[in-house]
Amino acid sequence: MKLYPIESGNFKLDGGAMFGVVPKTIWNKTNPADANNLIDIAARCLLVEDGNRLILIDTGMGDKQSEKFFGYYSLWGSHSIDKSLAKYGFHRDDITDVFMTHLHFDHCGGSVQWNSDKTGYEPAFKNAKFWTNENHWEWAIKPNLREKASFLSENILPMQESGQLNFVDRPKTDFGFSSELGFDIYYVDGHTEKQMIPYIRYKDKTIVFCADLLATAGHIPLPYVMGYDTRPLLTMPEKAKLLNAAADQNYYLFLEHDAHNQIITVEHTEKGVRLKDVFTCEDIF
Ligand SMILES: [Zn+2]
Repeated sequence: MKLYPIESGNFKLDGGAMFGVVPKTIWNKTNPADANNLIDIAARCLLVEDGNRLILIDTGMGDKQSEKFFGYYSLWGSHSIDKSLAKYGFHRDDITDVFMTHLHFDHCGGSVQWNSDKTGYEPAFKNAKFWTNENHWEWAIKPNLREKASFLSENILPMQESGQLNFVDRPKTDFGFSSELGFDIYYVDGHTEKQMIPYIRYKDKTIVFCADLLATAGHIPLPYVMGYDTRPLLTMPEKAKLLNAAADQNYYLFLEHDAHNQIITVEHTEKGVRLKDVFTCEDIF
């Protein structure tokens, strides 16, 4: 197995929204805001090369929406999925599987693109199976008002219309091995219904793709929960379970949204679990 970070493009989000009830005087130390109160956010996807499978985990925002839409997200940097894939000798048509942790636009927007004459949409990975789970799919296609702006039908429905959509076989417990994907998945409900967190056994290490369960290194303290989360009281025990195991077993936490810390480890302290070391993907992969 080989792993590659795939940077799909950086953006910015409101720091207050990203830290919920935590005051700016505190979060601004780890995630400094610009003059508009926006903080740096990455959309760092992960490519898993396993035998003849090439599994891409999450796909960033894509480029379908209007200038006005992207204006809200202050895109920055020069990353793209195609450039990142090319760096490692891959093309998007090589991708056999696209696994989406959840269907918020910044995690699945890159899965669907305009068709050639811009009259409709088509999957952006023509040879891939697209993976979500049935509960999350049902949740996403009939969105509640609070998440409606995050679940965009044009990002979601074309995967089904093309016949490329697949549901993972979800275990009865919140953690289990997916024989379809070849890694363990932790199912969590605090951020949104049945977000999927991959745990990848790589050499002698466990790499956890933290997605929106742990957005940045600044989100390690348990009450530092994003304002976007639909069930913040659930996020805390779900995050505690991840962080305690990560400190006990030295997991490598891959941070999709942290523009400045790619992979971290954590340790137990008197104050709870806290940051231990920061690594680049090159250090670990
Ligand atoms: Zn999300």
